[in-house]
Amino acid sequence: MSFETAFERIVGHAHAKAVLTAALATDRVAHAYLFHGEAHIGKFLTAMAFAKMGLCPHPKIGRSSGRPTLASCGQCPSCLAVDSGSHPDLQIVRPDGVQIKIRQIRDLQNSIVFKPMIGSRKWFLIDEADAMNPEAANGFLKTLEEPPDHSVLILVSARPQALLPTILSRCQAVRFSPPPLQALSPWLQKQRGLGPEEARLLATLSMGRIGIAAEGDPAELKIERDRILGALSKERLEDPADLFSQSDDLAATPEQLDRSLDTIEIWLRDVLIVPHDPDASLLINQDIPEQIMAWGRAVSTDAVLETLTLIHLLKRAAPRNLNHALVLETVLLKLRDAVIGESTTGSKTGEAGRVRK
Ligand SMILES: [Zn+2]
Repeated sequence: MSFETAFERIVGHAHAKAVLTAALATDRVAHAYLFHGEAHIGKFLTAMAFAKMGLCPHPKIGRSSGRPTLASCGQCPSCLAVDSGSHPDLQIVRPDGVQIKIRQIRDLQNSIVFKPMIGSRKWFLIDEADAMNPEAANGFLKTLEEPPDHSVLILVSARPQALLPTILSRCQAVRFSPPPLQALSPWLQKQRGLGPEEARLLATLSMGRIGIAAEGDPAELKIERDRILGALSKERLEDPADLFSQSDDLAATPEQLDRSLDTIEIWLRDVLIVPHDPDASLLINQDIPEQIMAWGRAVSTDAVLETLTLIHLLKRAAPRNLNHALVLETVLLKLRDAVIGESTTGSKTGEAGRVRK
């Protein structure tokens, strides 16, 4: 895989890119960064581009719109080694299964003490850093407390609140937000050679998640969205057996759960907006305004806001090892109460519920 040579080629994240460019241009790269923000919006790709630039012995320095720009050359042995995953001064740590384990952190520690082989720094990218188990996190903290001068550690996380506060406090935090759809659509036209309509639909369906937009098939994404939204119909929510099988199905994997929660969250956002948006220009699901309008008519604004708050809490605070189906079930039960117009304070959950192992 060929990683980007310049930040300009990565859509969005202007602030993050400016901070990182300045760090390299002034040779003030921090020892530890935390790249945080929602999943699939380009944090890891930016980290790879940053490391590639930092490692390249012939970076191109320029200016664009009055700001300094920096690019790796993309052709030297160092750049090619980054692309092929064989650079001796770049190590990537990812969860082994669902966790980052102490063994992986020990490997990092054994490597970080040695001087870089080619470049001037050694780069370590810890993807999904919040997946470190407690033993790994404590081990990692020791490295963060006294990192060797030549090392750069980049923690990438969509759930930074799951990291130890002592880890967070030692990293320079760089926040990433999904790029605006208006920016993503032209980028997709250029990057993927799509027509304007197709690019807009793909930008919409990927919800600003550049990682998905860059690779996703618009037709498949649409089918997936419609499958998730199908679970929100009144008939299906009212059928307890169906509701529980949907919860299992739409939360089969952690990624699937994330997609389902995002899709529901955006749907609810659209439900709030649609009455005030006659030409549907502000909707994210721009292709289905009537469906959004019809669903929204049956539900109170308060219930929608309460569900959004619940989803927000679950996304941020639910521990990684929580039963995924249970998370989605909680949301669907809340929505069921919303569409049948009942308060959630009663024992509805218990009546319809079943015992989960
Ligand atoms: Zn190079």
